[in-house]
Amino acid sequence: MVAIVPRLRINSPRLKTDFDALAEIGATQSGGVTRVALSNEDLEARAWFANRIEDAGFFVRDDEVGNLSGVLPSKQPNARTLLLGGHLDTVPNGGRFDGSVGVLAGLECLRTISEAGISLPCHLEVISFTDEEGWWQSFFGSLGMTGTLQPHHINDVQQDNAAFRAALYRAGIRVSEVGRAKRDMNDLLGYLELHIEQSKRLEQANIDVGVVTGVVGRSTYVYTFFGEGTSAATTQAPDRRDALQGAAMFITQMYALIADEYPDGIVNCGNIEVQPGTFNVVPAEAKLRIECRHQDSDILNEIESRLIRMAQDIALMYHLSVHVEQMYKRQVAIMDEGILRLIETVCDDEQLTHQRMVSYAGHDAQILSPFLPTAMIFIPSKDGISHNPKEETDWEDVENGANVLLQTILRMAEHA
Ligand SMILES: [Zn+2]
Repeated sequence: MVAIVPRLRINSPRLKTDFDALAEIGATQSGGVTRVALSNEDLEARAWFANRIEDAGFFVRDDEVGNLSGVLPSKQPNARTLLLGGHLDTVPNGGRFDGSVGVLAGLECLRTISEAGISLPCHLEVISFTDEEGWWQSFFGSLGMTGTLQPHHINDVQQDNAAFRAALYRAGIRVSEVGRAKRDMNDLLGYLELHIEQSKRLEQANIDVGVVTGVVGRSTYVYTFFGEGTSAATTQAPDRRDALQGAAMFITQMYALIADEYPDGIVNCGNIEVQPGTFNVVPAEAKLRIECRHQDSDILNEIESRLIRMAQDIALMYHLSVHVEQMYKRQVAIMDEGILRLIETVCDDEQLTHQRMVSYAGHDAQILSPFLPTAMIFIPSKDGISHNPKEETDWEDVENGANVLLQTILRMAEHA
């Protein structure tokens, strides 16, 4: 007879208790959470998390960019560290699941492994990264940890620098010391992040787990069309040099191009500023804020250059000129194929359905992926709603995700 060894399972009620307690910190009237980075609520959540780490008997670790971790050390000398992560910060009036699930499930995995008396050949560290959501500076914590925080990340933020510096200082983060948060990537075995999907592909396909292959690249541009601000009453149609007409044609053609030729891509025109912006003057200037996302860096580049050519052609047609300025470019992030296969095996063993997918939203995992083997596990989001109080995931899905995380940790540790 074969002895049946019960598979190790996380303690779901204990995880739920933590989840509910954390959701109280910064809770809003509408059932959401406001815990923007470095706010009182964020600092309260960190204090709470540090207590939970100590209550479980783990070490609290923090660094010079405010990342906060719980560590279950290995008894083996020269052990490397497997990082599990998420973020405690939220957008204003955001949801209870985004970020929190990764942190709390990570902590629960450490407790489960520790209680089972399992001795792993690697340290386990559950980390909450500072300002993932970018209230001040997106991915501040993971950029700091990877040593890729640039001076302009602190000095050129669009918000008030003084307020950012004050918030950092209040959280015990000294601008002069952030460089010391950089860790030696050779000490790290890998990074795993459990997160809600934030769109509805899993729900629609009735799939339990998303195995994230990468995070799309993203670029942002300001397109400015220049015409001539003449009298709207007396300038004949053929003589008008209307910057807004050109811009409007560009927006329409941009969406048509993506729909027809790049269905996996995303573009957005999020803002239009028109000068002089009044009833009786032909628009002299129309400034558009454009964003592009794609999972393939070559295709992303292609979309970007086709849009620029399109803007130039349209400008010619409307007797305008156009100036295009790239504001930001984030490269495509690729997750580790070996870990993806481990996660798929774990899902099969757990009898959970799974599907490979890209993430269109940004995550700390994309900052870490160039430096160490990285993977993300997605669980379904109801109606795909996120960054909203209505953000919801069935508790069973959270439990499944946490168990997949647990089993993935144990298998990665075998190769440590
Ligand atoms: Zn998140």
